[in-house]
Amino acid sequence: MKGPSAMDRATRLDALIVGAGFAGLYMLHKLRGMGFAARVVEAASGVGGTWYWNRYPGARCDVESMFYCYQFDDELSQEWEWTERYPAQPEILRYANHVADRFDLWPDIRLNTRVISAVYDETAAEWQVETDTGENFLSSHCIMATGCLSAANRPDFPGLDEFAGRVFHTGHWPHESVDFDGRRVGVVGTGSSAVQAIPEIAKEAARLTVFQRTASYVVPAKNRPLDPGEQADIKARYPEIRAAARKTFGGFAVPTGRESALSVSEEECRQVLERAWNHGGIGLLNSYIDFGIDEAANERAQAFVRDKIRETVEDPETAEKLLPRHTIGCKRLSLGDAYYATYNLPNVELVPLGEDGIGRIVADGLTAAGKDYRLDDLVLATGFDAMTGALARIDIRGRNGLALRKAWAAGPRMYLGLMTNGFPNLFTVTGPGSPSVLSNMMPTIEHHVEWIAACLGFLRDNGIREIEPGLAAQDAWVAHGNEVASRTLRYTCSSWYLGANVPGKPRVFMPYIGGMPSYMKKCAAVAAAGYEGFELTPA
Ligand code: FAD
Ligand code: NAP
Repeated sequence: MKGPSAMDRATRLDALIVGAGFAGLYMLHKLRGMGFAARVVEAASGVGGTWYWNRYPGARCDVESMFYCYQFDDELSQEWEWTERYPAQPEILRYANHVADRFDLWPDIRLNTRVISAVYDETAAEWQVETDTGENFLSSHCIMATGCLSAANRPDFPGLDEFAGRVFHTGHWPHESVDFDGRRVGVVGTGSSAVQAIPEIAKEAARLTVFQRTASYVVPAKNRPLDPGEQADIKARYPEIRAAARKTFGGFAVPTGRESALSVSEEECRQVLERAWNHGGIGLLNSYIDFGIDEAANERAQAFVRDKIRETVEDPETAEKLLPRHTIGCKRLSLGDAYYATYNLPNVELVPLGEDGIGRIVADGLTAAGKDYRLDDLVLATGFDAMTGALARIDIRGRNGLALRKAWAAGPRMYLGLMTNGFPNLFTVTGPGSPSVLSNMMPTIEHHVEWIAACLGFLRDNGIREIEPGLAAQDAWVAHGNEVASRTLRYTCSSWYLGANVPGKPRVFMPYIGGMPSYMKKCAAVAAAGYEGFELTPA
């Protein structure tokens, strides 16, 4: 418990929401509408979360714009006009600001304020929340809308501090425009962020060197302007399209095959993949039902994409270095229309990293794979401490002073990805153990926000002071999540889903891979049964 001085002038709330991304914005709107005293605290100087921070060149969504948006308000859905099939970062950021304006959210959002600790006072049944501005809160409930991909992973490369040039991380991109004209730029990483940034940086840089640890599978987005007629047609059919999307595994409105890739000839499988390739989008891996669970089926899709790389990249040696060898879809599939072709440009070089990775960084460059590279700028496209990173960076203490970092030392443990035993009245939007990053995150966020809001309404109506998952229900959910994951191919490579990108992080498959429909059914059943599996303490 904090001493009286830190909490003396604390603001008292029903719900403190941490984070002003799409999760925090909707959570605030929803709770205020129910008459709760709620406030959002956000470290950034604006709203939008992911789309505030990730301003790197080429940053763009890979869920189609018409579906990467809120569904909770029909007027909002109808009035907002998207300009492209896949929205670019500035457009999504404008949308987030429009939402904050439209629902008059600003008065209850504290920007430039980072939560540094949240400590549960068992006697008062409230969270004592400290921020870095000195503005503190006492709140009956605390809702972590801190994001799955918001804590940048900045590897501790030896000598990085000695580098005399500019260093950027894609997830913390500066607001002012960054000019690479005439400069020698090094990009570390070839995940989705790098795949989008590399073609754009290559247009300006005198020399671009890409340092690749693992080659990525990249499929075309086929981005294009959105035709107004097409947009009007989708809006007219929103209810039916969205209802259909909710029945799919990831809440995506993409066609999904019903048969095994091995039930058809290799030729037919290739024709289907060719059509999906030309259509564009992550739906390619939905062409058959077993790309995610059967290695032999998966190999057909792998071979197809490798052939596309060989066809696109003119220099056979470079093409060979770009060929991914792992299971396709095991790491997150990347979308990009110009990625592989960028390696045909004379100013672009690919450097596969050997076992030793990035060697020593010095003032004017670095050593990798036994060679020295002179660089003016270094772009770290090295991803995120995903799913648990943002929470671990806050000192969260539950019952008996138990630290969340300690409770999760062997990997995150949550019931339904919503709450953790030992941390009453603390909720997480899209937490580990929920489908979150394996889905179209807008409907997933809305689902969690609505479940949490309904839960707070239930607690208020029934005079319940504390809610917390029972250990048995939590253990059973974690075991179920691990069991489902172990039946898929996603479990089989060193991905950030498993925490493998961050040295020392426990290897646990963090998102729930049982699919949206069964997950939503489970959440609804739990609530309908009076929050089955949770322990409720009356006031
Ligand atoms: P975020 O948008 O991450 O917001 C969390 C906020 O919490 C941040 O603003 C952060 O500053 C704040 N915060 C964290 N800790 C604290 C603290 N201690 N104190 C105060 N504030 C704090 N998803 C898709 O479905 N489709 C896509 O195509 C897609 N593309 C993506 C592209 C990129 C580059 C990235 C990084 C992610 C992408 N995602 C995509 C996932 C994306 O994160 C979600 O779609 C969605 O934006 C998450 O919203 P959120 O509100 O949950 O979290
Ligand atoms: P990422 O997928 O984790 O990619 C990070 C890259 O950096 C990988 O190539 C990784 O190699 C490499 N790397 C990490 N640490 C390294 C080290 N110490 N030395 C050398 N290389 C290192 O991160 P991201 O590209 O930022 O994407 C994260 C997630 O955000 C995506 O998976 C996706 O969910 C989302 N996203 C979506 C879009 C979109 O198109 N909508 C765009 C960007 C991001 P390894 O593979 O070997 O670890």
